[in-house]
Amino acid sequence: MDSNMNIPFNKPFIAGKELYYIAEAVTRGNVAADGYFTKACSRLLEERFGIAKVLLVPSGTAALELAAMLCNLQPGDEVIMPSYTFVSTASAFVRVGARPVFVDIRPDTLNLDERLIEPAITPRTRVIVPVHYAGVACEMDTIMDIARRHNLLVVEDAAQGVNAFYKGRALGSIGHLGCYSFHETKNYICGEGGALCINDPQFIERAEILRDKGTNRQKFFRGEVDKYTWVDVGSSYVLSEILAAFLYAQLEHLEPIAARRKEIYERYAADLRPLEEDGLLRLPRIPADCQTNYHLFYVLLGDAGWRDGLLASLKQEGIHAVFHYVPLHTSPVGKSFGYREGDLPVTEDLSARLVRLPMYYGLTEKEQTTTIARVAAFRPWGAEQPKKLKATARTS
Ligand SMILES: *Cc1c(COP(=O)(O)O)cnc(C)c1O
Repeated sequence: MDSNMNIPFNKPFIAGKELYYIAEAVTRGNVAADGYFTKACSRLLEERFGIAKVLLVPSGTAALELAAMLCNLQPGDEVIMPSYTFVSTASAFVRVGARPVFVDIRPDTLNLDERLIEPAITPRTRVIVPVHYAGVACEMDTIMDIARRHNLLVVEDAAQGVNAFYKGRALGSIGHLGCYSFHETKNYICGEGGALCINDPQFIERAEILRDKGTNRQKFFRGEVDKYTWVDVGSSYVLSEILAAFLYAQLEHLEPIAARRKEIYERYAADLRPLEEDGLLRLPRIPADCQTNYHLFYVLLGDAGWRDGLLASLKQEGIHAVFHYVPLHTSPVGKSFGYREGDLPVTEDLSARLVRLPMYYGLTEKEQTTTIARVAAFRPWGAEQPKKLKATARTS
């Protein structure tokens, strides 16, 4: 039955005016960087989210790399971050010579456990990188307070956190620097793209230089110098106007996109609640201080075998669910820093039991019904009465 169903894991959403704005960018005669649409996107993000300066860049990875360069790290300097995250969070800092110090996550939000940060601080610690997993904020008041007391920088990996908030403040606007992604799997997209959010103005001038090949060309454009030249070691981290035009069409629809994702999220949560009550799975938790952007929807199963069984069962039905992340401390590069399996028990446990369900604007009601029914019908192999999940501690 239903063997011809094909429910992808993600489908990029077209808000409406993408092609129209791309045509406009072409007819305006500027398809390189920093033209009309780049400025329009940057201004919109700055005003909407209360960020001193937003620079569009080619990816979330590029934003993290620029942020890491701005931190001015020396070889061996330490950067505290979760292991349960995308590779770029760590690689951006490792490529400037820093040592990633992986800290375990909270069992409720799967975010950096703020209680474990201070014990991980050493005289070499320079930066904390909170990753706002699933668009749910880390405990930023505590993290900013720790950073202040220990004189550390905070770089928010808000790749998944565009248009999500913590105590009313936009994610990406709270740390010294923040990083957004507009990759096609995120909420607001331009295929590949990102933004560096600069909240501490002391970083603005150097960020503009590093992004523009190490030159002071931005100052030249503003008439502040009469010719531009090579002043620092940078690279090309600019975004083409063609992609900025695409992005602007998406940013005009911040609210409708968020509203549709909320609907899908809440239906998953409501329809799967009885399974949680029966101890068959665990649903995501959103602390009261966090206003999420509903970036993704996951469930936690009893164990890795149970998780793999559910993925296979969904696949049979043509439903493409996925899991992530392979914890970075157990990866070959993570191990080269001396980490081994067993070092971060919560990360290792939860990453082995998590399934992300299809979640995108265009997911139809019928597709969601099919997905929910299949999840509800699944039982781990050979188990009439699967062992029950333990209730999870902490929701604040
Ligand atoms: C997507 C993502 C990135 C990388 O963004 P790209 O635009 O794909 O380079 C970094 N960190 C996290 C947590 C992400 O989810």
